[in-house]
Amino acid sequence: MPELPEVETVRRTLKNFIIGKTIKEVRVHYDKIVVGDTKIFVESLKGQTVRDIARVGKYLVFILDSQAFISHLRMEGKYNIAEASKPLNKHEHITFVFSDDSELRYQDTRKFGRIELVNKETYHQDLPLCKLGPEPWDADPKELYLKIHKSSLPIKTLLLDQTIMSGIGNIYANEICFSMKMHPLTPGKRISKKRLAELIAVSKDILEKAISQGGTTIHSFDANGITGLFQIQLQVHTQKVCPVCNGAITKEMVRGRGTYYCKMCQKKKG
Ligand SMILES: [Zn+2]
Repeated sequence: MPELPEVETVRRTLKNFIIGKTIKEVRVHYDKIVVGDTKIFVESLKGQTVRDIARVGKYLVFILDSQAFISHLRMEGKYNIAEASKPLNKHEHITFVFSDDSELRYQDTRKFGRIELVNKETYHQDLPLCKLGPEPWDADPKELYLKIHKSSLPIKTLLLDQTIMSGIGNIYANEICFSMKMHPLTPGKRISKKRLAELIAVSKDILEKAISQGGTTIHSFDANGITGLFQIQLQVHTQKVCPVCNGAITKEMVRGRGTYYCKMCQKKKG
């Protein structure tokens, strides 16, 4: 599943391909991907030029002349750049046709992704983006403390809650706990303000490293579609051996999500 670094990589890559292009036509082949009225979505985008692509948490925000829309890739969503002559594959659900006859196609094998028209001026304050917590770069330890100091939920689960902090998914939540030497089941209420400041710093560091690694693989996206997925240096997620103590990595389900940790290195609860 794409997390913040992958979505950021998709954003940067897409910008190279579509900024300045004018949408001639939008074809929706599977209309549940579009939130709201499909006809309004299609009509609103016609004749609009792509001016910028922004990102809020794991959402991409396409900024056009007078319109904007958001795109959440969820599990399997990705974008393909194609010439009009290339046949549509069965997983491509939306086609944006540009005036130069090149196309941007939204592909999603599991159809969980969503695309939604938003107000260009107020999307930050409107649903669904207004529900998102700050990204680690903007997070404040005191505010984070207020949000979790009464919670009995495991830190692993709290890190995935996009209303607390946005952008972190399952892979990086595991990596962040490992880097903190913190047990993933540590309840939110056991974590001090000082440790939360550390948690924010570690989150920033891990996401920044992933973004910079993603940037180096941009050239490979053309063939496989723009997914933002790349080989990152994982310390614990899906690993078998701890890179610090050489002990075995434990895999356990925590609230339905595969959680990897080292029992020796992650003893700290708080
Ligand atoms: Zn270890």
